Amino acid sequence: MIVDCHTHIQSSVQNIDRSEHLTSAENVDFCMVLAAGEGSSKEINKDLSEYINNHKNKMLGFAFIEPTNDPISAKDLIFIRNELGLKGVVLYCSGCGFHPAHTRAMQFYESAQEIDMPVFFHNDGVCRSLVLNYAQPYLLDEVAGAFPDLKIVVGDMGVPFVEQTLTMLLKHRNVYADLTLKPNRVWQVYNTVVSAHEYGVMNKLLFGSGFPSGNAGQCIETLLGFNKLLADTNMPRVPRDSIRQIVERDTLQLLGIEK
Ligand SMILES: [Zn+2]
Repeated sequence: MIVDCHTHIQSSVQNIDRSEHLTSAENVDFCMVLAAGEGSSKEINKDLSEYINNHKNKMLGFAFIEPTNDPISAKDLIFIRNELGLKGVVLYCSGCGFHPAHTRAMQFYESAQEIDMPVFFHNDGVCRSLVLNYAQPYLLDEVAGAFPDLKIVVGDMGVPFVEQTLTMLLKHRNVYADLTLKPNRVWQVYNTVVSAHEYGVMNKLLFGSGFPSGNAGQCIETLLGFNKLLADTNMPRVPRDSIRQIVERDTLQLLGIEK
């Protein structure tokens, strides 16, 4: 089973060709599609729902919620799951400018935990309006402590705060991290994978491509060819098997998502 846990089909800043998304998805068994994080959540989620429902055998959607504005009761989340067919929620704390432990956000997690809905924290990207402070993964310590059964994914390894992410993975049973690779950032890939291995948290890493910024085939190739980066050096290695396990991890089962 290969699951790509991080892809997009919507963007206000670039035109995403959905046929390319389908092509990238051919390299995996399932693809998680994260709703865009700006504009009306109702419209964004409806658009995503239509796409997901047209490709049900391959795609899973995560709805966009802005907890400080949107309805957040368990009933509202059940509507998203049952009527829109979206199985999780993606939050953009740094993009939307709210603290991950904002009172309304905490109420939202309580609802999400109650109905077993996983939450993906998408705080990567660089633009002037991002509140970088709210992207810090250690802020999720309070959330994971208060809601220990809530399944949490830290998007993009929490870059640029990777060490914080690794500590969160070590500390909290239900916190995972999306290893969205940037094949053109060789040094970052190397450091991230070796650090995860040294922390003993390789089993908490989920494979992601970050489409459209990456494509699943290319990312799988980079990961599996990881040790080739180190040919003719004495740099620390990571066992090939544990790298393969990242690619083949059943992310859906870990996050409690029914297909
Ligand atoms: Zn993304």
